[in-house]
Amino acid sequence: MRFDLVLCDVDGCLCPEHPGPLDVGALATVAAHNRAARERRDRPRVVLCTGRPQPYGELLCRLIEDFDGPAICENGVWLYHPANNRYELDPTITPAQIAAVQELVGWMRDRYGAHGAQIQPGKDASASLYHGDHDWLVGVRAEVAAEVARRGLPIRVSMSWFYVNCDLAHISKASGIRRLFVSTGIGRERSAGIGDTLGDLAIADSVAWFACPANADPKLKERAQYVSPLAEAAGVVDILEQIGRLTY
Ligand SMILES: [Mg+2]
Repeated sequence: MRFDLVLCDVDGCLCPEHPGPLDVGALATVAAHNRAARERRDRPRVVLCTGRPQPYGELLCRLIEDFDGPAICENGVWLYHPANNRYELDPTITPAQIAAVQELVGWMRDRYGAHGAQIQPGKDASASLYHGDHDWLVGVRAEVAAEVARRGLPIRVSMSWFYVNCDLAHISKASGIRRLFVSTGIGRERSAGIGDTLGDLAIADSVAWFACPANADPKLKERAQYVSPLAEAAGVVDILEQIGRLTY
């Protein structure tokens, strides 16, 4: 087989970007794929590479029958090992850096709570400010970035559709993938990836073959070796079929 691993984003890939039901049929197909990978060793395992908090990743590991991992959660903050329930915080993250994130969380709660914005629960060394109005968030992003600069915090501010994301500057999906490669002994040449937003450039940059579902950002599609005609989880299933047809 061409690859050992497929690093797969969650929101907009395995799960819908917008509120609504999971595509359980497609997820069952991914689970069957992972079962076959485990039993026959004839195809790459699908592992998570997500900005979502670890508890969400843990449940998804069960849903897609990834019992080996590690799953990259919280944009590289955590490697979660489903086989033995081990949680590895990136060892370069210091207590002072976690305190800096919490300082910013307190400021965002004070500043934006009255506007209907919320801090996504479950994150440990990053923070995501949620609001249902994308356009409102676009204005807020610049203000958060200015506050981070004013306080001199070691934090990178970015945006996904419904979130302003505040991550430690040295932590990303790319740093998580580097740790995963060390942990598994599998490297770039044996890894494929799937993503849908520009945060997933870190995946595209780290793997030998990259694909997008139909709903992906056009700028990210430019980096893909394959773009599925299908969206989200159905697109992931289609991409896995494409990978199965790849030869050296
Ligand atoms: Mg996504």
